[in-house]
Amino acid sequence: MLGSSLGGNGADLITSTTGPQPADFADVRATNLAVVLRFVREHAPCSRADIAASTGLNKATVSSLVADLIDRRLVRETGLTENRVGRPATMLVLDGSPYAAIGVEINVDFVSAVAVDLAGERLLTWRRSFSAGDSVNQGVAAVGAIVRRVVNRMAKEERQILGLAVAVPGLVDVQGTVRLAPNLGWRDADIGGDLAKALRDPGFPIQVDNDANLAALAEQRFGAHAGAADLVYLTGEVGVGAGIILDGRLRRGGLGYSGEIGHVQLDPDGPACHCGRRGCLEAMAGIGAVLRKDPSPAEIQVEIEESLRLARAGDPGTLATLESAGRSLGRGVSILANLLNPEVVVLGGYYVPLAPWLLPAVEEELRDRVVAAEGGGCQVVASTLGHDAAALGGAARILDSVDSGRLPGGLARIP
Ligand SMILES: [Zn+2]
Repeated sequence: MLGSSLGGNGADLITSTTGPQPADFADVRATNLAVVLRFVREHAPCSRADIAASTGLNKATVSSLVADLIDRRLVRETGLTENRVGRPATMLVLDGSPYAAIGVEINVDFVSAVAVDLAGERLLTWRRSFSAGDSVNQGVAAVGAIVRRVVNRMAKEERQILGLAVAVPGLVDVQGTVRLAPNLGWRDADIGGDLAKALRDPGFPIQVDNDANLAALAEQRFGAHAGAADLVYLTGEVGVGAGIILDGRLRRGGLGYSGEIGHVQLDPDGPACHCGRRGCLEAMAGIGAVLRKDPSPAEIQVEIEESLRLARAGDPGTLATLESAGRSLGRGVSILANLLNPEVVVLGGYYVPLAPWLLPAVEEELRDRVVAAEGGGCQVVASTLGHDAAALGGAARILDSVDSGRLPGGLARIP
């Protein structure tokens, strides 16, 4: 929030939402730099006058902030344009060509890496196979190897790494420690610390988060419903988890364990779940249930393709299985819709290709089970980001931290 101007030095006072402590000038300036950067991200091409008019910062402050962002090569000038009152204005756009944000996803059957520039343009997408039986050390070694290759590629392009965020399917606490990743067999693993060691303290921040949380951030920034303030992402991998964005912000809960919708029990007499309980959503609508067996990670893709082939051919057994999984999934989505009233629930992972067969049952359950009319306005859609969503979300999380004031580059210039 922008507050009243502090006289004399061109800086504007920021009042944080957590309390009215006066921020020191370095904080004020970092926050204002982030305000301008976000404005350019959302409104480019735009002029300094546009920024001043929309943010409430005075023109001298905006000029100084823009000069700083240009020095850091976050923003660049692009030609002159007639503005509304007819005088030519120099237009600004995001630059960011010297930067890259990296996201990595570790899943049961693959490790994938994505790099994007500051404007969110995809620089690379890599994937390698990975087997869930690997120990934490082997997992860290596999991730370390792919990250080193990404870092080398970015170095060749003379890009500075803004940061790395790693997505893990499991409970990740707010400090980034993986407390439990049942489908990987990992417990109490400091993946971030281990990776920093494996990469020999690479000089950029490393964050670790739950895969569904990061995929939700990717949808919020890059997906078909980008900008939605209330959005839930449901992973459709071997596990089923939810990443929850409410009022525009990711909601991790007290310790970071929100969104374990996959282990909400739908049927006490239902099939056994990986977690040791029975009848969980994951056991009734996860990929194992869709395929009616527990395929090895390497077999999943082939099995999904076979299931799709049979569904397209109208095989009654396959259609009945998909409808039943869709009903269970719909019961899970209805719980989310009754509790959180999201605008949109995005189905990810293996749910994407199966969505045409799952969605009719999901929507019917939603109509039957949500108290508010029309499912409370909740739309259920398939992700357009596919299997890269969580890795892309890692990169989105790094861009989010830049947008909120953690800027790369030298110290702010004194105005
Ligand atoms: Zn379970």
